Amino acid sequence: MTIRAGLVGLGKIARDQHLPSIEKIDGIELVAVASRNAQGQGVKNYHDLTAMLAGEPEMDAVILCQPPQVRYQAARQAILAGKHVFLEKPPGATVSEVEALIALARTQGVTLYASWHSRYAAAVAQAKQWIASRPIERIAIQWREDVRHWHPGQPWIWEAGGFGVFDPGINALSILTEIVPEPVTLLSATLEVPENKDAPIGADLKMATASGASVEAVFDWRQTGPQTWDIAVEAGGGSLLLSHGGNMLTLDGEVQMKAPDEEYPAMYRRFVSLVAERAIDADTAPLRLVADAFLCGRHCPTTAFED
Ligand code: NAP
Repeated sequence: MTIRAGLVGLGKIARDQHLPSIEKIDGIELVAVASRNAQGQGVKNYHDLTAMLAGEPEMDAVILCQPPQVRYQAARQAILAGKHVFLEKPPGATVSEVEALIALARTQGVTLYASWHSRYAAAVAQAKQWIASRPIERIAIQWREDVRHWHPGQPWIWEAGGFGVFDPGINALSILTEIVPEPVTLLSATLEVPENKDAPIGADLKMATASGASVEAVFDWRQTGPQTWDIAVEAGGGSLLLSHGGNMLTLDGEVQMKAPDEEYPAMYRRFVSLVAERAIDADTAPLRLVADAFLCGRHCPTTAFED
């Protein structure tokens, strides 16, 4: 069976990754797009999800690529209409929303996929394997990028529920919670919030693994020049560096792997197999750490930022 999918929110990530990946992957085809200000090519176009659900009764699945603040109502509507749902990351603006969606998908017997694209970066599986057999001593995360380059013209990202620097930072946390084979908890956090924005531009997180290893993360959106998406692990007397957002692996100073980004095609393969089983894959661990940072972090005002 080929999944007939409709996509909601034809913005940057939908164009950069979803459309080319759907095109590439067997088992799924795009039949419709719902977007208020954009049109998909070669598919039926609708203004919004309500119109798309009414116009496409044969559609099997809905892919939600809007900002997180509006994803919950759309996901609920699609699940209640009996559709399988693919959620862009973060899967919602709050933990309680995502938990409600998981329960609803279970009741309705449809697939719910909370996608975490960074977990599909080329070197993540090998890093997970390396860590599995070693006692972790220390983890240090540096996620520094230029918000003006990656998120131009996206006011929602600076608004409450838009996550600010946690929008990229949650990608690091999604890798962390994938490769560490024990719970990670948040100890403290500092969030730097520009005085003209609702969401942080910088964050420092202190965490720990259940067995007591220190995990530190620095997220910063003010980096110009070379960008940094690194996770360094010291374990069992050896060192591991996951760089390029998880696509490059260095062990004890020697590069083991550097591969191109194939995260979205891998996610679509996963979605096709989940739908075949009507299974749910919706891990909230990265979102919980972000929520904990907002709950117990110190919120420090910083100078206004103009994008
Ligand atoms: P974007 O370029 O702003 O696109 C989102 C689209 O959603 C908009 O073009 C808009 O299309 C639609 N939309 C529906 N309701 C909206 C609302 N209330 N406010 C704003 N837009 C609304 O954002 P994006 O970069 O694609 O990011 C979307 C999601 O993908 C986010 O959760 C983000 O974390 C995730 N993501 C982004 C990237 C990336 O590199 N950009 C990478 C991975 C994941 P219409 O106006 O036509 O309806």
